[in-house]
Amino acid sequence: KRTITRLPEWLKTPIPSAGTNPNYAKIKADLRGLNLHTVCEEARCPNIGECWGGSDKASATATIMLMGDTCTRGCRFCSVKTSRAPAPLDPHEPEHTAEALARWGLGYVVLTSVDRDDLADGGAHHFAETIRRIKQKKPTLLVEALTGDFAGNLDMVKIVAESGLDVYAHNVETVEGLTPYVRDRRATFRQSLEVLGHVKKVKGSENIITKTSIMLGLGETEEELLEAMKELRKVDVDVVTFGQYMRPTKRHLKVEKYVTPDEFELWRKRALDMGFLYCAAGPLVRSSYKAGEAFIENVLK
Ligand code: SF4
Ligand code: SF4
Repeated sequence: KRTITRLPEWLKTPIPSAGTNPNYAKIKADLRGLNLHTVCEEARCPNIGECWGGSDKASATATIMLMGDTCTRGCRFCSVKTSRAPAPLDPHEPEHTAEALARWGLGYVVLTSVDRDDLADGGAHHFAETIRRIKQKKPTLLVEALTGDFAGNLDMVKIVAESGLDVYAHNVETVEGLTPYVRDRRATFRQSLEVLGHVKKVKGSENIITKTSIMLGLGETEEELLEAMKELRKVDVDVVTFGQYMRPTKRHLKVEKYVTPDEFELWRKRALDMGFLYCAAGPLVRSSYKAGEAFIENVLK
């Protein structure tokens, strides 16, 4: 098979300068001294200008990583460090995170984490505690939690789902057939569907938004992707996002295909036709891409 080495034109376009957006500049300046580490900055995400800029401050979105930088899993698309025994949790993290977020001018925060299979509860209580404290300190801040699958322990999913968050996200990452090759062997497509389905079950369908993300370009067929979307709708998932898979290093899975912007647009339309509430799709889209703006436009209005 031919290895793709050249980036297509649409991925080469220069990233627009984030510094020209007044909201972005404000959000960036306000972050100083808060001792908060954002995935947006640490992963040098190309969307930072759009996410932090927002259309106004209320929709400015950022992503924060909880529970350390070392994961107990090793997915084959992901460059996060792996260890069987990462450092213990910082018991002050929920309070510190909530305090810093309450002072920051953001409207929407995505809390995500590494997978912590080493902890008996997978970190569910820590996650839930962080969300509760954020909501106590700043009830208007919209909170999305992007969690792992808690190894299928649905009681842990319930703990997070009932913590006061606005959006529960869990990524299936790819179609069912590719899951064993793409994600850590402990993750399955079915288990992920159960996680997403359980959130709706415990909260009631109308009371929470569920969301998932799929990377394109890993070798999935059109049929497999349509099937995955159907399965997601069956468990009432509200939001889906599609982005291009990008290989972090040569040791990771290679890119099978660069999906064109037009194809992404087609998948976005298909998602809406299938009943998803909204969908972000594009080569650089990540699951948290402009999540605040999308939530305000599609759920609150
Ligand atoms: Fe941050 Fe996610 Fe937006 Fe990137 S896409 S800037 S990680 S919120
Ligand atoms: Fe990366 Fe998440 Fe997989 Fe851990 S579980 S390796 S953080 S994608």
